[in-house]
Amino acid sequence: MTTNQQRTLVAFDPANVRTIYDPPGVDVAPADVDQDAELVGLAGLAWALRQAAELPGVILQPAPGIDGGAQTVGSPCVPVPTIQVDPELLAGTTLSVYGTLAHEIAHQALDHPGRLTLRLWWATTRVAAVAGLLALAARTPWQITTAALAVSVGARLMWARGCRLDEYDADTYSVTLLDRTGVPGADAVLAALFAIAHRDTRWYRLFGWIAGTHPTAAARMRVVDRGRRAARLDWRTALTCQATGHRLLTAGHRHAHHAGGDRCRPTWWRLLPLWRSPSF
Ligand SMILES: [Zn+2]
Ligand SMILES: [Zn+2]
Repeated sequence: MTTNQQRTLVAFDPANVRTIYDPPGVDVAPADVDQDAELVGLAGLAWALRQAAELPGVILQPAPGIDGGAQTVGSPCVPVPTIQVDPELLAGTTLSVYGTLAHEIAHQALDHPGRLTLRLWWATTRVAAVAGLLALAARTPWQITTAALAVSVGARLMWARGCRLDEYDADTYSVTLLDRTGVPGADAVLAALFAIAHRDTRWYRLFGWIAGTHPTAAARMRVVDRGRRAARLDWRTALTCQATGHRLLTAGHRHAHHAGGDRCRPTWWRLLPLWRSPSF
């Protein structure tokens, strides 16, 4: 074990993470619990997590006024991943601070900020393509407008669903990151989610999430509890024989049934994709 790894483990003493971390050149006495000491501790935490995530570096930027939480910002001017942290976050429990920071670093490690632009571009392209086709088939400008509006709303909902999947995946991956640094990952992420659960209004819990970029904290806690990635539509099951597991219309499928497997009874619903939660 190198000196650096030892320092990481010391930094993750749950009782002392904010003050005990002692990077070279910075003099912080454990008794000196002031704002600077807490920020130094936070830097140590980010440093250990970005190592676990194999990121080249992470910029932590104090940003008061973002709801006592943290957020990831992407900018073409800053080549290093940047995470803004509200100093109020440090008022939370140690575990919830771990969970929140690990979640943001997981976003960076999974390249979600980069994919966000791509996803927006795809949604826009699809809207333009479908609206163009509908415009060719439509007879009145009124039909064109209505169809374009419907497609646009659909694309927005699809985009939001993609963002919510990113949130679930960042939660799941942050559990892995924290586990790698010796912290109980699931406990920390659940603590972070518990701390923000009160922000979900009744309206958001019932319907608001459908157009929202963040799932409700309750839904995210369920996924973290399960320990798997969030369910998503999976086309791999479509056109697959349920009896033999072969693709329909292939020689292998025919042979399998000739060799004396169960009878093949394809039904229409077997052509549909299924919601399933793949493991990482
Ligand atoms: Zn997030
Ligand atoms: Zn079959």
